[in-house]
Amino acid sequence: MSEVRHIQSQRILSATGMKQADYVINPYRGCQFGCVYCYAQCTGFAQKQASPWGSFVDVKTNALQVLDRELKDKPCGRIMLGSVTEVYQEVEKTCEITRNVLERLVDTGCSVLILTKSDLITRDIDILKKFRDIMVCFTVNTTDNIVIRAFEKKSPPYERRRDAVIALHDAGIPVYIHTGPFLPYLTDPEAIMSDLSEYVQRFDFENLNLKMLPWQTLQEIVRTRFGHLLPQYQAIYSDESSFEEYWVSVRQILTGLGAKYERDTNIYFHPYDIFFPISVR
Ligand code: SF4
Repeated sequence: MSEVRHIQSQRILSATGMKQADYVINPYRGCQFGCVYCYAQCTGFAQKQASPWGSFVDVKTNALQVLDRELKDKPCGRIMLGSVTEVYQEVEKTCEITRNVLERLVDTGCSVLILTKSDLITRDIDILKKFRDIMVCFTVNTTDNIVIRAFEKKSPPYERRRDAVIALHDAGIPVYIHTGPFLPYLTDPEAIMSDLSEYVQRFDFENLNLKMLPWQTLQEIVRTRFGHLLPQYQAIYSDESSFEEYWVSVRQILTGLGAKYERDTNIYFHPYDIFFPISVR
């Protein structure tokens, strides 16, 4: 069980320097899904918490009042929902802050990008269909639920994500797949693309960022859950040339799969020098 705390927020619509959006909206702080690789756990807010990541969530109960006030002053633009939280985590089932925010945004003329890995989004298809400019970025790192549970404490299994992607597609809501982090030897990109390419516009791939998931933690997960892969992981992360060689080979595979399934593939690979120097021994 995660702790649910109700808070008053000073701001809902936050300006962002990200190229995909002018503003971000995060109806919650913290996340009940508790992914070990989550970059939000590196924020100052998360670092100050006594409880581990995934065990708490703050609900911005005054989100609508604040949003109404902010919308009067700010021009409409591109809004991203869920830059540092999951907008469709468990607590949204009862709090419905995300649903209410979307209802407010429908008539503003803004464009909306929703980042999620939760099938709860299908509850709101009735509202999503009303937007003239909307896109859903759905995270699928693997089709294997054993891998999902090793890295994400409480996120939905693959089958529910797939069903949600299909439901969004059938409702006419554009979707692209974000495969991030791409996990060496655990992410099967062809399994993902063969299963989902019919329903989505494109695939984005991002490699594992060891700034967010330290090597020691990753190594422990691999050792305990996928021990047969430990030598391969140690080889990839042992030095720059091994690292580059591996990700260059993955890039070639992804480019080929994009051609095979006739979908654009964007590949975002963090360079070696972001992660290192670390010792992988
Ligand atoms: S679902 Fe998203 S926000 Fe939540 S823990 Fe996972 S990566 Fe972080």
